[in-house]
Amino acid sequence: VLDTAPDADADLRPRPPVVTIMGHVDHGKTSLLDALRGTDVVRGEAGGITQHIGAYQVTLKDKSKITFLDTPGHEAFTAMRARGADVTDIVVLVVAADDGLMPQTIEAINHTKAAGKPMIVAINKIDKHDANAQRVRERLLEHDVQVEAMGGETQDVEVSALKKTGLDELIEKIQLQAELMELKANPDRDAEGSVIEAKLDKGRGPVATVLVTRGTLKVGDVFVVGAESGKVRALVDDKGRQLKKADPSMPVEVLGISGTPSAGDQLQVVENESRAREVAEYRQGVLLQKRTTAAPA
Ligand code: GDP
Repeated sequence: VLDTAPDADADLRPRPPVVTIMGHVDHGKTSLLDALRGTDVVRGEAGGITQHIGAYQVTLKDKSKITFLDTPGHEAFTAMRARGADVTDIVVLVVAADDGLMPQTIEAINHTKAAGKPMIVAINKIDKHDANAQRVRERLLEHDVQVEAMGGETQDVEVSALKKTGLDELIEKIQLQAELMELKANPDRDAEGSVIEAKLDKGRGPVATVLVTRGTLKVGDVFVVGAESGKVRALVDDKGRQLKKADPSMPVEVLGISGTPSAGDQLQVVENESRAREVAEYRQGVLLQKRTTAAPA
């Protein structure tokens, strides 16, 4: 059995929040993710090329950090949750101020509530002449989302992803929410993480984007991930930089995996390669058995 026991309180340190953006199609999720990426103070200095690895982390002027899952769409959120890889701390619900609440907005509200996640409403496209933020706030009430202006506790903010307005305020609200949650993890232990996405890269072999959930993942670490195993050959961040290690809430591409894992798989660092192979082989056996029993007679 792998060591997945909870950490002692004394070992816990603050970690950045992990944010997922949800909302109706065309309401501006991708645009907002792009605009927020631009708030990163180290991106320019890094000199690397922006990589779309399924998540990115921004470092703000005050040195604090926020991780954004860059996989807009409710499917990723629900699929990861169904697999026990519930990595999101905060949901930002994007609602276009001209369009108002639409079916996928309501779906997103329901998913967020079912997951018990705090929500921040970003009323987007506020630059448009037919924007009506107040109507959005009123319609939200019908779905039991009471924003502050309506006497409730859900934070809301008017933004324009296009004109890049309201972004600082949105970030402040995310930070405020994160502070209330006192998000913590133990960085000084063998790492664990969740696979955000994975692919077979022509040049690099199997590559998985892993969000570190606790511990610090290092180059050279031996691990199991789903039914695969490996030894970290390289860690690459969303700025294309090669890292030596990745700490909690950090998303990184992991190279050196025996095969391609699935989104939602858990990565765990183990003591040695024979142990890693043993766990992976056991899991492959279980998978095979599942498929055989599931096969129609
Ligand atoms: P997604 O489907 O939710 O990811 O939405 P996109 O980010 O792809 O945006 C859909 C469309 O709305 C695109 O044509 C964007 O340029 C436009 N859009 C996004 N944000 C804004 C905004 O703040 N103002 C205006 N006027 N247009 C926006």
